[in-house]
Amino acid sequence: MWIDTHCHLDANEFAGESDMVAARAAGRQVSRIVIPTVDRSNFTAVQELARRNANCAYALGIHPMYVPGASEDDLAALREMIRQAMDDPCFVAVGEIGLDFFIPGLGEGPVRERQEFFFSEQLKIARDFELPVLLHIRRAQDTILKYLRRFSVPGGIAHAFNGSRQQADVFIGLGFKLGFGGAMTFSRASRIRALAAELPQEALVLETDAPDIPPTWIQHQRNSPEELPRIGQALADLRGIAAQSIAQITSANARNVLPRLAA
Ligand code: ZN
Repeated sequence: MWIDTHCHLDANEFAGESDMVAARAAGRQVSRIVIPTVDRSNFTAVQELARRNANCAYALGIHPMYVPGASEDDLAALREMIRQAMDDPCFVAVGEIGLDFFIPGLGEGPVRERQEFFFSEQLKIARDFELPVLLHIRRAQDTILKYLRRFSVPGGIAHAFNGSRQQADVFIGLGFKLGFGGAMTFSRASRIRALAAELPQEALVLETDAPDIPPTWIQHQRNSPEELPRIGQALADLRGIAAQSIAQITSANARNVLPRLAA
């Protein structure tokens, strides 16, 4: 079995096909797909999507790229939604949250401050409910780590990890797993491939980030959770072990860091 720890199955690219794609992924032994939200407008749609598909689970959060369009009311709505979701076995984490200093205009001035405010408020929610977090991190590794030291949450996943080995070790020390996906299938992605090959196996989880980050064999097309086993095979090849072992290791790691997924 495989676990896709990060997939936007509610995205427009899957309109009308989400349930079918989830079922096809199940047919390829993708036994769990974790779907994070991006802002208040998709909280309910993602929750419903996860509830009606046996192999889906969800996280609730406000994505850093959606912070400019979000209001402080949305943080209160998020906290209330999470309070109610604590009884829901499909609900597994706070996410997708984080910081994006890569997109032009988002990394400076008041917009940056606002991102940091939304991020720290959502870390407080995770801390208060003792929930792991799904992190989006672009050009913001060290700032993210600063906040994680300040608000101790019970770990989580650094999704689409693209930091240094040193930063990876700090995340691992804070109880985080690192998410690897389609980027690792490109031979030019030498740093990511080196991390995927050399990090301790307890630190690794798999993800597609579908419909984004397509692997080499479907470049420029819609990515899908159905691709996860082949992405897992790429990780197995990098580490020189059997795909079956990688499936077991990464699934155990995902359940370990997202305990509600195991329950
Ligand atoms: Zn995402």
